[in-house]
Amino acid sequence: MNKNNPWKPVLQYFIFGFTWILFSDSLLSFWVKDSMLYSRIQTFKGWFYILSTSILLYFFIKMDNAIIYNLNDKLTKSNKHLKDRESLIKVIFEQSSSAIMIWSTDGTIIDVNKQFTSIFGYDYDEVIGQKWQDLIVLNLPEKDVNDLVAHLLRDGYIYNSEKEVITRDGETLYISWNNALLDYDLDGKNLIASYGSNISKEKYQAEKIYKLAYIDTLTSLDNRAVLEQDIESLIYNETSFTVYLIGVDNFKHLNEVHGHDYGNQFLVKYSAKIKHALIHTKVYRWTGDQFAVIETTVNKEAVQLTLDNLRILSHRDWDLNGVSFHSTVSIGVANYPYDAVTADNIYRNIEIALYAAKEKGKACYQHYHDDLLKNVKFINFVESELNSALENNELELYFQPIYNLQNNHLESYEVLLRWFTDKLPNLNIGSLIEIAEKTEQIRHVDLWVIRHTFALIKKNKALLGNIIFSVNLSSQSFNSASFINELINEAQHYDIDPSRIQLEITEHTLIEDLTHASNLMRKLRSKGFKLALDDFGTRYSSLNYLSKLPFDTLKIDKSYIDNILHDANDYAITKYLIQLSDELNLKVVAEGIEDQQQFDTLLKIGCHLGQGYLMSKPYNVDVLLSKTNKTANF
Ligand code: C2E
Ligand code: CA
Ligand code: CA
Repeated sequence: MNKNNPWKPVLQYFIFGFTWILFSDSLLSFWVKDSMLYSRIQTFKGWFYILSTSILLYFFIKMDNAIIYNLNDKLTKSNKHLKDRESLIKVIFEQSSSAIMIWSTDGTIIDVNKQFTSIFGYDYDEVIGQKWQDLIVLNLPEKDVNDLVAHLLRDGYIYNSEKEVITRDGETLYISWNNALLDYDLDGKNLIASYGSNISKEKYQAEKIYKLAYIDTLTSLDNRAVLEQDIESLIYNETSFTVYLIGVDNFKHLNEVHGHDYGNQFLVKYSAKIKHALIHTKVYRWTGDQFAVIETTVNKEAVQLTLDNLRILSHRDWDLNGVSFHSTVSIGVANYPYDAVTADNIYRNIEIALYAAKEKGKACYQHYHDDLLKNVKFINFVESELNSALENNELELYFQPIYNLQNNHLESYEVLLRWFTDKLPNLNIGSLIEIAEKTEQIRHVDLWVIRHTFALIKKNKALLGNIIFSVNLSSQSFNSASFINELINEAQHYDIDPSRIQLEITEHTLIEDLTHASNLMRKLRSKGFKLALDDFGTRYSSLNYLSKLPFDTLKIDKSYIDNILHDANDYAITKYLIQLSDELNLKVVAEGIEDQQQFDTLLKIGCHLGQGYLMSKPYNVDVLLSKTNKTANF
């Protein structure tokens, strides 16, 4: 029973009174036998009863008063505490940097704070009574709201749920919400407090950082970092896949002719095309003009189909900004797990395969196979060996005399490179030059030859007289303006008269950019250098170059000379070329004369000059110096 229950004093009073009435008279008559005394005490007994009950009442009231005072005190204190808390909550509610919204389980907004109205751009009155799912989010299914409420009723809270919301002005914001079920209700409906922080800035920043790290800024394709992640996870899950590495053919040319912006526009359009047209594949930007496609199959027919589709999409006519051109691509293909089992080897293999596809010419594709890797390893080996050979001057120069066929006089020497190394005993010089072109070492090689030729001429000035030295220049060297400047500087440095140097270039050197080539040739001619068109008759021979470009000499390729006795056409062409050169005032050198009959025929049809094993194989500098010493004739 409660300590302050009013029945308690009443019961105590009742027991006292009841006991008194029941026993006082019988006790008194038991102890007092005298009737006079008995009646006197009877009178006082009534008074005693009143006195004792009054005293009892006094103590009861005093006790209760103390309890009531205590209670009152407690109540006052707790009221103050409540008031303090209320004002604290008010301050927190209004001054919070989070948007706070109190809502009932059907989504109706009961209360919001200032920050809420300021973030969402509504007035307080416009918000109250509205459902938040209609006001601050777009197209949220009713089911989602129900799920959210069910979750809250079950767990009591949901923290840090990021949601996209929309303001009155239609601006999209990202809010991180904390939701908690309140422990009081309104008209029987549970209430929920949601307080949200505007994390839009952080979100945009994070998105920006993500984009920078993972999205290619030009094409908006996933970049190589994403490709690497995807490949790692495919390998981790042991999923077979094929990677196609696509390289745009002649992209450099497109960029150079129409400008980088134009090239970029093409890459954007092209990448969008392959991204949207290919199904069951993912497209990435690899680097510059290269794209990678991953398809999770190694099935031969499926791969062939994708290759065919890629080629249809890529080999087409474009009309971009009024410029029409035809695009083609080369494609390298490698798969997991048959071609490679590690990510690094896949990257290596697709690059090797693409490289091989490009080597085949434009618009080709190439599947990876191990021979390609062997070839690349061989090229790498040659590259490093050649670097040290250049550094340590382990290369040699050989010289093949070119004679006047009529009087057998020495006309000039062709300078030919030689490399005698035990590590590569079977590498012929033509293959070495090809490799040096691939590894872009050829400029160093050509410059090495030029320096050593100039040094030789300078050192043996008296002995060598005015003999012309004919040096081969590769396309990369000739087309580099800095190389040409270096050549001119070296001639000055070694004090060489440029008219004693002839530069042999092939037609394929000129084909890339005729105007550029023509300018360089004129520059060299103005300095006094002589120019020869080498290997005429091979590949894309055209008489056009002969009339348009300032050559001194035409060298007819050995393949014509080989056939001159047996093939009437080659005989006729050679004869015609000699006549034409006469008219154009060009000297003609027949290359690779191997027997007397060829020699006689050439002489008969008016060929001035020739070189070949019949007269002399190329020889080294010691032989050159000893021969030049004795006689210039053969
Ligand atoms: P090329 O410019 O056509 O040089 C002539 C090649 O024919 C030389 O081969 C020479 O040894 C060979 N030859 C000359 N007469 C005969 C003959 O009667 N019969 C046969 N079968 N061959 C003959 P080599 O020295 O092996 O050079 C091959 C090619 O390598 C050269 O062809 C040239 O394109 C290139 N090359 C050589 N040295 C250099 C160089 O210093 N720089 C550059 N860029 N290329 C070079
Ligand atoms: Ca040559
Ligand atoms: Ca030649």
